[in-house]
Amino acid sequence: MPLILDGKALSESIRVEISSYVERITSKGYREPSLAVILVGDDPASHIYVKNKRKACERVGIRSLFFHLPQNTTTPELLDLIASLNSDENVDGILVQLPLPTHISQQEIILSVSPKKDVDGFHPENMGKLVARIEGGFIPCTPLGIDLLLKHYGIDPKGKDVVIVGAGFIVGRPLALLMLWRDATVCVCHIHTKDISIYTKKADILISATGVPHLIKEDMVKEGAVVIDVGISKLDNKVTGDVDFERVKDKVYAITPVPGGVGPMTVTALLLNTLQAYKQNMDLKDESF
Ligand code: NAD
Repeated sequence: MPLILDGKALSESIRVEISSYVERITSKGYREPSLAVILVGDDPASHIYVKNKRKACERVGIRSLFFHLPQNTTTPELLDLIASLNSDENVDGILVQLPLPTHISQQEIILSVSPKKDVDGFHPENMGKLVARIEGGFIPCTPLGIDLLLKHYGIDPKGKDVVIVGAGFIVGRPLALLMLWRDATVCVCHIHTKDISIYTKKADILISATGVPHLIKEDMVKEGAVVIDVGISKLDNKVTGDVDFERVKDKVYAITPVPGGVGPMTVTALLLNTLQAYKQNMDLKDESF
């Protein structure tokens, strides 16, 4: 049996720690941490993600402020809301749920969030810190969640061949930078890669983030590898990942399940980033977490 990298269990234990930190700090008279969540339109998947994130916040004592704007919201209207949240000292983090409706400029919105409140880590200032290996910036939630999961199970990327399939802005690209930071040798494949199996077969740590169900088959994975499945899609009406889990699992050293692997770690990383924003905003550097 492979080692199952249980993101759900690890998340639960980190969330207990966050919750007791918040209890401790608020009992000293400080206000609770707060996260503003903005959702534009009625995309059903985005609704579910936002609901889960808000529920997770509330369960650990982080106040979540919800701004649900109509589908026809304009870029200037959204920019106005973000500007007011940027200057509100009682708001620690701001999350704009992506994707935005196509008439809104995603780039302009990402640039408008204060880097100090950018708990998603998408602002170029935070991405730049990831490139330059500067501590203290916000690391995007899914890469950070994967990093925590690997660390927890004693899997050190240093000197390993890490192959990432998927070069998206939210997962693949920032994850490649984070794995480089961890001193791995990193290879990134994407839709234009001629034959991804040439690369996946060499991976000590294979991470797939494409959203293509069962893209990663048994014969594409090296014996004894660590496999991290970020993908979330539906196959035969069941939530499934990028990896053909049932066939791949007997060949590998460790693997994440879907659901229950990277998904909960992503939300936990959001809670940790919000706490980091709170501590910086409230100047609580000395309060250990
Ligand atoms: P994206 O669309 O931004 O990027 C997808 C990447 O996959 C692109 O680089 C594309 O070139 C590549 N790709 C697509 N088909 C491919 C193929 N056949 N071969 C090789 N590369 C291919 O998507 P994203 O936002 O990075 O999300 C990717 C997946 O991860 C989705 O299923 C999404 O739902 C999931 N996701 C999960 C979590 C989580 O917490 N588990 C978080 C974010 C995203």
